[in-house]
Amino acid sequence: MEILENNDDTRDTIVAIATPPGVGAIGIVRASGPHSWRILEDCVRKSIEAERRVVYGNFYDSDGNIVDEVLFVGFKGPRSYTGEDMVEVFCHGGILVTQKILEEFIKRGARLAKNGEFTRRAFLNGKIDLIKAEAILQIIEAKSEESLKLAVENLKGKLSGEVSAIRKMLIDALSKIEVTIDYGDDIEIPREEIAQDVENIVKFLSEKLAHADKGIHVSTGVTLAIVGKPNVGKSTLLNRLLVEDRAIVTDIPGTTRDVIRGEIKIRGIHFVISDTAGIRETNDVVEKIGIDRAIREASQSDVVLFVLDATTGFTKDDEYIMNIIQDSNFIAVWNKTDIGNKISKVSKDGDDIYISASTGEGLRALEDKIVERVKPLVEDGHLSHVTTKRQLEHLKIVQQHLKKALEAIKSGYPVDIVSIDIRNALSELDRLLGTNFTDDLLDNIFANFCVGK
Ligand code: GDP
Repeated sequence: MEILENNDDTRDTIVAIATPPGVGAIGIVRASGPHSWRILEDCVRKSIEAERRVVYGNFYDSDGNIVDEVLFVGFKGPRSYTGEDMVEVFCHGGILVTQKILEEFIKRGARLAKNGEFTRRAFLNGKIDLIKAEAILQIIEAKSEESLKLAVENLKGKLSGEVSAIRKMLIDALSKIEVTIDYGDDIEIPREEIAQDVENIVKFLSEKLAHADKGIHVSTGVTLAIVGKPNVGKSTLLNRLLVEDRAIVTDIPGTTRDVIRGEIKIRGIHFVISDTAGIRETNDVVEKIGIDRAIREASQSDVVLFVLDATTGFTKDDEYIMNIIQDSNFIAVWNKTDIGNKISKVSKDGDDIYISASTGEGLRALEDKIVERVKPLVEDGHLSHVTTKRQLEHLKIVQQHLKKALEAIKSGYPVDIVSIDIRNALSELDRLLGTNFTDDLLDNIFANFCVGK
């Protein structure tokens, strides 16, 4: 057995089972790296011969036993997902079969891939930028038609193209400034022209940012927090919503004991819904931790379901909660109306909802109300292709740098000061794409201006 020592882990041959664990018709094991073809050829005892061609064969373990009848295909870098030599093996979809094939690759020198490592290599090898890498993840995780559509369009280069367009506009503006700095005696580009260029970019970016929240909401889901004093039926309501509407995931990793999350679709809109600890005034230190988390959850959610108990009526604890959430987009939900009628109007708009989480009574009206509240957050029309908070944060910083640049130009600062802000904006765009700044600025100057004249 050959052991391949290598300290540079981006040059290792990596392997992973690409299909989800469990039993299925077909299981796929894929490997990427310099030894992927050689290892597979050892295991199937024949040559792959041509790239991108499906071949039938037996897969042997190192003792010479046939593990399975398989189909396999080889890709030669850079024409592969990762940009490196790659192979994929299609075997029968049993847990043991895929595991054994994986182990054979490892025995012959591959190592187990880390999370996202194939896509990471695709990025490192220049096959995709960071936005496209995010899009791939979003395609895998898409839970609504719209989010899938946005992600696929981003994989096809929609947002990357827009970012590149902004980048090009900035480089053009910078080129003009550089020319003024270097050849100011011979060429003087009017400040107004540079100001106009930057202003156009700021406007273009403002458009993108104005609708960014929608793209993010559609892609990551609208957040809905259930809050209320203890025992009002919050958990019962969460379970009811998860049962009535298709529960997508009932337990998201990273949830704490105090905040339980689930994902549901209501009228096609994807929601991430959280059930929180009962809120009340207390001196109990442990309980207070849960309550603080509940309050934080409410303040960060797009919509808050404020659950009240129709058997107790509006109490001091409810008043306490009401003060906390009054600035949130909350819906007052009177629960337990099957056994109580001590209700009063709580919402600002007087639009309280009456339900029984136990029987399901009033649930449709509640869902209608939720959808009515979130419609403006997700409605189509101006869907932005900014689909992650990371993208939004970078673009906001770009915008700040450009506004500073614009101010500097208008206040008559020397153009080299202006160029610093523009360069900062460019670096931020590069961070967004994951690329490094290169000499293309200089190239661009000479491409666009006939300096020798
Ligand atoms: P939480 O502490 O706010 O999460 O409240 P739970 O969901 O645990 O419910 C507290 C108690 O109220 C449980 O015994 C539930 O069965 C009961 N309950 C919740 N919703 C309803 C309802 O709509 N009608 C009736 N009759 N009981 C309810």
